[in-house]
Amino acid sequence: MVPFRAELDKAHVALAFLIVVLIGSAAGGRLLGILLAGGAFVAFNWLFLPPYGTLVIANPLDWLVLLAFGVTSVVAAQLLARAQREADDARRRAAEVTHLATLGAETLSAGRADEGLRAVADVIRSTLGIAACEIYVRHEGDSPWAPITSDTGAPNAPRTRANVDWVADRRLPAAERADGTTRTLSAWPSGEPVPPLEISDAVSLLVPLSVQERTVGVLVLANDRPLAFDAAQRRFLSALAYYAALGAERVRLVAEAERAEALREADRLKDAVLASVSHDLRTPLTTIRALAEEIRTEGDERAAIIEEESLRLNRFVADLLDLSRLNAGALSLHSEVNAIDDLLGALGERVAGIAGGRDVRISLDAPDAILAGRFDLVQSLRILVNLVENALKYAPADTPIEVVARRDGEVVRISVMDRGPGIPASEREQIFTAFYRPAYSIPDASSAGLGLAIARRLAEAQGGQLDYAVREGGGSVFTLSVPAASL
Ligand code: ADP
Repeated sequence: MVPFRAELDKAHVALAFLIVVLIGSAAGGRLLGILLAGGAFVAFNWLFLPPYGTLVIANPLDWLVLLAFGVTSVVAAQLLARAQREADDARRRAAEVTHLATLGAETLSAGRADEGLRAVADVIRSTLGIAACEIYVRHEGDSPWAPITSDTGAPNAPRTRANVDWVADRRLPAAERADGTTRTLSAWPSGEPVPPLEISDAVSLLVPLSVQERTVGVLVLANDRPLAFDAAQRRFLSALAYYAALGAERVRLVAEAERAEALREADRLKDAVLASVSHDLRTPLTTIRALAEEIRTEGDERAAIIEEESLRLNRFVADLLDLSRLNAGALSLHSEVNAIDDLLGALGERVAGIAGGRDVRISLDAPDAILAGRFDLVQSLRILVNLVENALKYAPADTPIEVVARRDGEVVRISVMDRGPGIPASEREQIFTAFYRPAYSIPDASSAGLGLAIARRLAEAQGGQLDYAVREGGGSVFTLSVPAASL
């Protein structure tokens, strides 16, 4: 423009320079824009403001032109740079959102829960550009946490193991340095972007993963160079950690469901075997008993032993059959309103036959009203007879056994109390499990550990319960509770 400067208006010159400044900032960013603005300011003055070839300004009004040009070009460069930065940010965020959406869909649509988790680990590794990403989930074995994503690229996996347990226990993030030292980091609220790392030379980062205040896993990021994340990466990491937590929770739920299903199947099989075996044993046992009776009448005394033993076996088989019916919910009970007096009367009669002269005191603790409950008379009697039999069996022969019935709010409690050895705390719930006999029990061919299991299930089947308590002064108290009723 210099050859034509005599004809050129100052506005033409200023606009031409402005175009250069704008193109420069658009292409090369803010710094280039501002440098160009400065250069243009000087060139404008030197070449186009008289006297030419000097920085002197003859016409004071030209100062105004120059100043207006300078301010306009700097502000334009700044604005353009900011607009560009915001556009970049928006583009990056849009990409992040798309990325996360894809990842969410992948995690949810993965056929197996651990595949979903592996996908999350892969995305974390590739997005953050690190060497390895592992997600540890709860594991049944020597180590409570095991990596679901085994990545051979992990540069310091062996050392990490111990730290994983630590991070999961304390629920605090930690960082490891290349020299082997570890540092705890302060926790950040879940959902918030991960804050800048507090140490600059961390080569691995361990982040606890929790869902609803429960630790479900640990995310381990490892690198061969020190880890450094920019703001966008930290934001992304926080979102991904949340996906990882959901993925880990899903893995846990699936494992739990599989275990429950296997247990249910085993239980069903056991019940089926129990039912069929006990049923098939009854017929031959009846035949054996009939034959033994016949032989005994012919004078062979040994037949009495066969008869006695087959009777015992028959009782055992009957118990087994009842247990399988109770398990299958196939034993029908007739709960109706009964007087407790009737139940205790029947118990007294039965006990007279089995007590063998021992002191069994049966009493009713109901001063005014008639005590009544809603229960199955036959099965409740069976429970109480079983409890008294146990007391007779386990308590010393010279101690009395007491049976007391009383009302307690909405239930009637019938307690069988003895002065036997009692039951150690560790065994108190186990004794109600079928086939369970404590290790210290004397081997007894006539006990299979079914009595209390059947008794408790019978109690529950009629809306009651059967519990154990330590008796004051030594001994046991087994209490049958049934719903109270009025006659
Ligand atoms: P069983 O008597 O056939 O072994 P039970 O289910 O009736 O089976 O009882 C389970 C276990 O509970 C017994 O082996 C015994 O160790 C313990 N037990 C039951 N009743 C008493 C009691 N009154 N005092 C001490 N221990 C008892």
